Amino acid sequence: MKRVIVTGGNRGIGKQISKELSELGYEVILTARSEEKGKAAAEEINADFMQLDVSDVKSISAFATKYSEKYGSLDVLINNAGIFQDKDKSAHDPDFNMIRKTLDTNLLGAWQLIIELLPALKTSNDPRVINISSGLGAMNEMGANYPGYRLSKVGMNAMTKMLHAELGHEININSMCPGWVRTDMGGQEAHRSLEQGAEAAIWLVTEKDIPNGKFLRDKQVIDW
Ligand code: NAP
Repeated sequence: MKRVIVTGGNRGIGKQISKELSELGYEVILTARSEEKGKAAAEEINADFMQLDVSDVKSISAFATKYSEKYGSLDVLINNAGIFQDKDKSAHDPDFNMIRKTLDTNLLGAWQLIIELLPALKTSNDPRVINISSGLGAMNEMGANYPGYRLSKVGMNAMTKMLHAELGHEININSMCPGWVRTDMGGQEAHRSLEQGAEAAIWLVTEKDIPNGKFLRDKQVIDW
């Protein structure tokens, strides 16, 4: 049975991905920063739960140690947890504390988690990392506003490319945009359902031959 870690799995796209993978027979380790919310979500979808705050360096290290002791190997890591706090901020009127917090959570947390879980991933015969990024981090479409969020996803995409250049021969790693999805983050005006938002991530986990070192939306490679 393939083993998958999902970060930020207590609600939104992360919970939907966890639910569908669990239904497909994957062993899902749903992680969340809130023990109470994470446990409740994991119970609901028949997944295991482990506490993990991706904005906290110590929490990531403790999680990786505990995970390796408990499970040993890992087939898929889905870096889904994220925050979007600077919806009403612009690059010429930034809130640098908000930007730092966003980079810590969306970029550095995901990056550190990959590094700490490399030994566990390398024991898999088909290790995969899926970074849930955003079109707002696409350089070819870079525009106004949301400076922290945009920068965190640009950084996530760059991190994906760097790690692919260094480790792509042994670990499959991609960034993907789920589209605009109806979640707490996306809001109720968003075009996509949770199922549609999760679809490409499920494909990146389950499909045999997938791209490597790319940025994708709707299962297609898109420009960075
Ligand atoms: P969401 O409904 O706001 O859920 C975000 C999840 O991340 C929650 O489970 C939240 O946990 C968790 N999280 C936040 N900070 C965390 C931390 N420090 N440690 C651990 N977990 C943390 O958002 P979503 O729409 O499902 O977004 C999921 C991913 O898709 C994000 O990376 C987002 O950037 C990306 N994305 C979303 C859209 C969209 O339209 N929705 C579009 C493009 C990309 P709490 O409940 O504890 O806050």
